[in-house]
Amino acid sequence: MVARSRAAGVSRWITVGTSLEDSRKAIELAGQYDGMYATVGIHPHEAKSADTSALEELKRLGRSDKVVAIGETGLDFHYNFSKQPDQKRVFEAHLQIAGELNLPVIVHSRNAFAETMEILDHSGRGPRGVVFHCFSGSAEEARLVLERGYYVSFTGVVTFKNAEKTRDSARVVPLDRLMVETDCPYMSPEPVRSQKPNEPALMVHTARLLAQVKGVELEDLARATTRNAMTFFNLPGVGSV
Ligand SMILES: [Zn+2]
Repeated sequence: MVARSRAAGVSRWITVGTSLEDSRKAIELAGQYDGMYATVGIHPHEAKSADTSALEELKRLGRSDKVVAIGETGLDFHYNFSKQPDQKRVFEAHLQIAGELNLPVIVHSRNAFAETMEILDHSGRGPRGVVFHCFSGSAEEARLVLERGYYVSFTGVVTFKNAEKTRDSARVVPLDRLMVETDCPYMSPEPVRSQKPNEPALMVHTARLLAQVKGVELEDLARATTRNAMTFFNLPGVGSV
């Protein structure tokens, strides 16, 4: 997968934790590859399992080499796999940990935009930066995210035929606040939507569509999103892009 990714021109990766076990695997994997970094987080789906000791362990993992962000964290009121008060408590705890470790957060927000923003607005010192990942909100919601200095990241969803709302959102995000991601194993982009699992090599299709939406060349889109990711995650070599 890494070789296919490099061949497609995607040569650095952030592999994202969604549970403690998954976060440990992300750290281990990142340790094996140059240009690969990890995040640690307990997804809102798993919030019910995030007791005090789990959150302490998360913070300990957050200090590991190559950990560049806290997340995924946030609120998912679409599936409600964990009770909403649990999701809110665990999201707040992640923001606290990110603040203490001076790391940015990757936010997952689904059917919970107002509640997500309210928690972020009251997160005190809070994280070093915020990115809304797999953004599926409206253009108006994107504006509220941008007003706060946050970043907006798009997946293969933006390439789907019925995703005109998501493309409208992408139109209002300036190039210096835009990121592109896989959300793999999910969300394979058109025209390879049926290829499962999704993987980093396929992200080029998402980038190409976003370049069209923004009216720029693919190379310009790639340079901007690479620079944004390197700045946001404070990757080595930032400033050289
Ligand atoms: Zn997510």
